[in-house]
Parts: sequence; C-alpha cells; structure tokens
Amino acid sequence: MSKPDHQWIQIRRLALERDDGTCQVCGGPASDVHHRKPRSIGPSTVDRYGLANLVSVCRRCHQALEHRPMSSFELGRLVHASAVSERIPMFGIDGWTLYAQDGTKRRATPGEINAWKHLC
Ligand SMILES: [Zn+2]
Repeated sequence: MSKPDHQWIQIRRLALERDDGTCQVCGGPASDVHHRKPRSIGPSTVDRYGLANLVSVCRRCHQALEHRPMSSFELGRLVHASAVSERIPMFGIDGWTLYAQDGTKRRATPGEINAWKHLC
C-alpha cells in the first residue's frame, strides 16, 4: 500500500469546507474534489495542491465534466495546462466564480469574464 498523502487529505478538506460540502456544478452534496487542470496533463505541485485549481463536485458531475471536455473548458471547469487557474473563472451554482489560492472565492466581474473569453 502506498503512503497516505497528508498534504492532499488536508487540501481536499479545505476545498470541501470552502464550498460548504456542496457540488459547485449542481448544488447537491459533494463527494469529490476535482482538479480543474487535470492530473493527466501533469499539473505542477501548485495545481495539485492549489485551492484555485480545486473545486468540490459530486461524483456524477465529476464524471460528466470530464466526459464533455469541450463545454467544460468553455465553462472554466477544465483549465488548459498553460493557463493560471486563479485567473480563470468557473461557471457554477454561484455564477462565474474566481477561486483564489488563499482559499477564498468571489464572483468574477464582467470585465474579468470578458478578458478570459477573449483568450479562448
Ligand atoms: Zn453535482
């Protein structure tokens, strides 16, 4: 058996607390913490353990968003490898939301949403 990853256990708990244990896509109870920049594309440590890259989701939404990568990228639920997750708003239950590395989150301004859409 591999050693438990204590850093992951801790950051996962912080992400779930920040999101009130609520799936940020459908509003149901969250069971998973999703990496917006997927682990499969080799995120750095800052993305693996960074709160800006992590959102709480339920299992069903987690699977759905990874099976629909085109719309997930458009909604900021997936983030390209070259982007900085902290600057990419995600569309969820609270509208367009920016997740910060310090564990806070806030509504994105219209200017921030537009700036990001021009990059797509
Ligand atoms: Zn959900």
